Amino acid sequence: MIVVKFGGTSVGDADAIRRAAAIVRTRLDRKPIVVVSALAGTTNVLLAIAEHAVKGRLIVAVREVEGLRERHLTAADDLLGSGAPADEVRGEISATCDELASLAEALSVLGHVTPRSQDAVAAIGEQLSPGLVTAAFAACGLPVELVDARRVMITDEQFTRATPKPDAIARAGRETLLPLVEQGRVPVLGGFIGATEQGITTTLGRGGSDYSASLIGAALEVEAIEIWTDVDGMLTADPRVVPAARLLEQVRFDEASELATFGAKVLHPATIAPAVGRGIPVHVYNSRRPDGKGTRITTDAPRRPVTALAGRCGVAVVKVQSSRMLHAHGFLGRLFEIFARHQVAVDVVATSEVSVSLTVDGAARLDGLVVDLATLGDVSVERNRAILAVVGAGLGDHSATMAHAIAALGDIPVRMVSLSATGINLTIIVDDDRLEPAMRRLHAALLEPSAAM
Ligand code: ADP
Ligand code: ASP
Ligand code: MG
Repeated sequence: MIVVKFGGTSVGDADAIRRAAAIVRTRLDRKPIVVVSALAGTTNVLLAIAEHAVKGRLIVAVREVEGLRERHLTAADDLLGSGAPADEVRGEISATCDELASLAEALSVLGHVTPRSQDAVAAIGEQLSPGLVTAAFAACGLPVELVDARRVMITDEQFTRATPKPDAIARAGRETLLPLVEQGRVPVLGGFIGATEQGITTTLGRGGSDYSASLIGAALEVEAIEIWTDVDGMLTADPRVVPAARLLEQVRFDEASELATFGAKVLHPATIAPAVGRGIPVHVYNSRRPDGKGTRITTDAPRRPVTALAGRCGVAVVKVQSSRMLHAHGFLGRLFEIFARHQVAVDVVATSEVSVSLTVDGAARLDGLVVDLATLGDVSVERNRAILAVVGAGLGDHSATMAHAIAALGDIPVRMVSLSATGINLTIIVDDDRLEPAMRRLHAALLEPSAAM
């Protein structure tokens, strides 16, 4: 048994869905369970619809709903032509879009969106795509069966970033998905969405379909998890930023996890953990080039000093300076307790005798945090920073490589540097607008054939 997940561009239109069907056909003997994202760009449109509605632009919101309806109906026409299955799918698409329009109306009356209602809207994309994909796969002769992901992906109630409940998912997966697979059927379900035990729709956070795939894979202890996307696999950097980025045929679990956490959007940051727990290899493939080698993410990939780079903008650096820190114990404990109380996650930390620098998500609300931190010392917040991560399982053993990385940045100001305890990740904080050139310089120095290391 394997899990085969198709991202948004891999089911973005009728041609993409046909390519996905051909890929699933080549996997039939491995008993696939298919997880699909919303059609590319749909979730962004849905969130925009909610925003328009609450800001009193209901007409714009409704126009966007009609755009989504049109797009899904066009794909259905192209894939299914006429006949009863086509009529059924068209009817379901329209009913779901009607529901979306009603949600938009309700939001415009309320003038306010709660995380729970935002999830009701954001989840529509992954409610629409599986029905369309299932019907299209069936029309191609695949023995598919549509499953509502909300019956399997049981989560807590943290709407917009719900935490999955692995035991409940395993139970539901065994009850709902296994019997289908055993009958030779291919279950198809939406990624990203789930439901609370009471059946209220939740989502796993942006890009969460990868996470759905690995959670289902872990729950059913599958042989492999395949992530089908729009690039050849995991590359040495985001190819949109570094055109010279090249394919990594093997990546270690720990490296993939660091890369995803620090901005490699090709995988949702939480994807790796469920797979590692069960030792299930994760493969990343290009759905436009199904014969490519792709990337295999496992525990036994080679240990390289530098495997890849990742980067993330929109970071804030919080600095606390205090002479009370000098030779004092318990200072960092009090400091982190304040971050915990305000539920602000810290990514990178660097300390000196009298100061601590920490990076946090720039979108986090920091006012209350800063007031409380001021009880410990002088606080400053630097916004518009970016994190650049140099990741390699063997990096910690190569001081020269780290020196080479810093030197390669040249005149780009370095705001902070930190090496992770396991030595796998050198994080460098630079200004937001210098992230892309910094990535290109580091890639040329550390990962291109001429790189002198
Ligand atoms: P999907 O819709 O299939 O989930 P995403 O857009 O979420 O696809 O992720 C794929 C994108 O991730 C690629 O188009 C690429 O721009 C970006 N990306 C960022 N870092 C990397 C990397 N190291 N390797 C491959 N792709 C990356
Ligand atoms: N459709 C969702 C998003 O755009 C989930 C995903 O594609 O993984 O965030
Ligand atoms: Mg994605």
